[in-house]
Amino acid sequence: MPAANLSELMIRDFLNDVSLPLQLRLDCLDVATTIRPAARVLVQLGNEAEKVCAALLSSGVAISVAKGIKRQQKPTHVTVHDWFDQNELGAELVDMAVLYIARDQATADGARSADETKDDVLFGKALGYPSCCVEWVQRRGCVPELSECLELYARNFAYDPLIWPGAMLNDSPLTPHYPCSPDCAQSQALAQARVNLLARLSCWEILETIIRAREMVYFLDDNQKLRAVSAAEFLVSGVVQFAKPSMAVAERLNIAR
Ligand SMILES: [Zn+2]
Repeated sequence: MPAANLSELMIRDFLNDVSLPLQLRLDCLDVATTIRPAARVLVQLGNEAEKVCAALLSSGVAISVAKGIKRQQKPTHVTVHDWFDQNELGAELVDMAVLYIARDQATADGARSADETKDDVLFGKALGYPSCCVEWVQRRGCVPELSECLELYARNFAYDPLIWPGAMLNDSPLTPHYPCSPDCAQSQALAQARVNLLARLSCWEILETIIRAREMVYFLDDNQKLRAVSAAEFLVSGVVQFAKPSMAVAERLNIAR
């Protein structure tokens, strides 16, 4: 296994900071280690923003800050800051800064400008999403919702643990985007690149979290919301729309400890 480079080592402590959403940490890892050219991340103003910016700058990552702030529902626990989340009526809101991050300032500014154009294809490509997936979202007219994961990515009541966007429910997606299909080779490569880096950096706790989220059974509840339970818990329920991992998770993710 090749040695970790400097920016990978700089980002390791940050990666292991469990007070931050894992998706946010993985987005930063992508950019620090050039898995992707740029990312858009949401950070809570105050401590979180300070911590994230300090870690990024010390890893040689450039930041472009969006004008204004985004008000989002206050998370009740550490979870994904989902850009597309709808705020529930009467919910407590927190102020989030929107950051565009890249290995150099021009690319970070470019990602911000691409977002400002509201052209999703331009922006998706600036973030390094596979073009097949960007064009797929454009054709369908909107980004999928979590509740659509079973329909889009599960077959015969099974999902592929490598690219299972439903794991976003447990704050451990391996792709930053919704893949165009469960067979999208580019999405699979991106997910595998993240896993390989985490293994190289010995981030075993994170990998355990990622594995656990993929050992669960995902199902739609009576309100058509995606839920996840352990396989043991699922045995006693009577749900019809569900999916289990299609194979042993560590094996599928090529994780050998
Ligand atoms: Zn694709």
